[in-house]
Amino acid sequence: MEKGITKGSGKYLNRYPFSGKIICSECGGKFKRRIHSKNGGKYVAWCCGKHIDDVTACSMKFIRNADVEKAFVTMMNKLVYGRRFVLRPLLESLREMDQSDSFGMIQELELRMEKNAEQRQILTGLMAKGYLEPALFNKENNELLQEAAELEMQKNGLSHSVNGEMVKTGEVEALLKFAEKGEMLTAFDGELFGRFVEQITVYSRNGIGFQMKCGLTLRERM
Ligand SMILES: [Zn+2]
Repeated sequence: MEKGITKGSGKYLNRYPFSGKIICSECGGKFKRRIHSKNGGKYVAWCCGKHIDDVTACSMKFIRNADVEKAFVTMMNKLVYGRRFVLRPLLESLREMDQSDSFGMIQELELRMEKNAEQRQILTGLMAKGYLEPALFNKENNELLQEAAELEMQKNGLSHSVNGEMVKTGEVEALLKFAEKGEMLTAFDGELFGRFVEQITVYSRNGIGFQMKCGLTLRERM
């Protein structure tokens, strides 16, 4: 995976899970990906862009890619392991906050999402059997896909203020659903990172915070 990526930088900007997502707590700048050399070996590091341009403008030191990956794995495993103490109580308190409102809405949205998935399955079945013109299939399928995306967005947008932070109920539910599977991560998973993490804040070389899509910020030592 790391082969051949040492050349250039600009055109690979969005190729990595952390690209554009690591923020410096000192200056607010974005971290850039760099290849560092040490004792003849090479490793991937992330460094504050302002610090790279002018060390006197920001004193934040670089962090290693491998350490950030490790911190993500640890953070997710803590959520999996401690789901009874973190995510489930949070979700329960969100539920109590207004049972009638957002949870009723979420249930309704989920029902509509299930129906939407069923309809797409039926369409695909009809198409496979040759009962549908491809043009008609594409049109109807695209409409359903668009509706599915809108429903998902509505679900994720339902939010509440918890301890002054806006917490997205649908996203907490999704995170808990993942944690409930009880599967510990054994390696970094970029897709999972992209699914649940909005951005990373670097406090120091030894500490970062994962700002989750659900609104929680989870700190990890490195
Ligand atoms: Zn900085």
